Amino acid sequence: MRKKIVAGNWKMNKNLQDGMALAKELNEVLTAEKPNCTVIIGTPFIHLAKVSDIIDHKLIGLSAENCADKASGAFTGEVSAEMVKSTGAEYVILGHSERREYYHETYDILKEKVLLALANGLKVIFCIGESLEEREKGIQNQVVKAELEGSVFNLSAEEFANITIAYEPIWAIGTGKTATADQAEEIHAYIRSVIADKYGKQVAEDTSILYGGSCKASNAPELFSKVDIDGGLIGGASLKVADFKGIIDAWKK
Ligand code: PEP
Repeated sequence: MRKKIVAGNWKMNKNLQDGMALAKELNEVLTAEKPNCTVIIGTPFIHLAKVSDIIDHKLIGLSAENCADKASGAFTGEVSAEMVKSTGAEYVILGHSERREYYHETYDILKEKVLLALANGLKVIFCIGESLEEREKGIQNQVVKAELEGSVFNLSAEEFANITIAYEPIWAIGTGKTATADQAEEIHAYIRSVIADKYGKQVAEDTSILYGGSCKASNAPELFSKVDIDGGLIGGASLKVADFKGIIDAWKK
């Protein structure tokens, strides 16, 4: 059975103290009222080790937002998958459109990152999604298929079980413009069919596919009610506990 997931992506927000306060508050709130989905927070590298000590990992999973495409060595400023794992994190977000666009992460670079993450025991939240121009051309299906084929379809079915897909239309990220629940469902169903073609129906059924892009408490219930939407990857609304909790609670509706 696939998991229902609400994952936060803090991006480059919060200094160490503010991040620790946010993690502590979230942990307290979820301890008092247990979520009925898997909750994950993705934090900058510098927060991971401290936040790992603050949270109850049975309640909140911990994710990095990136890792290096090299195992170790003379790569100044990089952070390896092994280092991420050593902080206590269980996940890493890879393939976010901001990293593809601003840091030129190609299919091949992402393929290496995914392999290193899995080799070091991290689960991967792998982001895919089309730009506004690609949506307007009607080629969104080809785009997401190519992103899967380029970076994760080299995995065995056993390895692929450690991948959660996050469909994030670039035009909806941080813009306040959400894909409608029907638009999102249509492409989520397509993504699941592509996974089924590659790995078979059971693997596809077991894969969690999250929606990301201006998801908030007000639109989460409708999005999460769709059969192929298994939760959300949340940017802006993961930075305040009340907002994030509102989305987590969408699974209770
Ligand atoms: C994201 O960048 O992963 C994201 C979904 O951002 P936002 O929720 O702010 O649109």
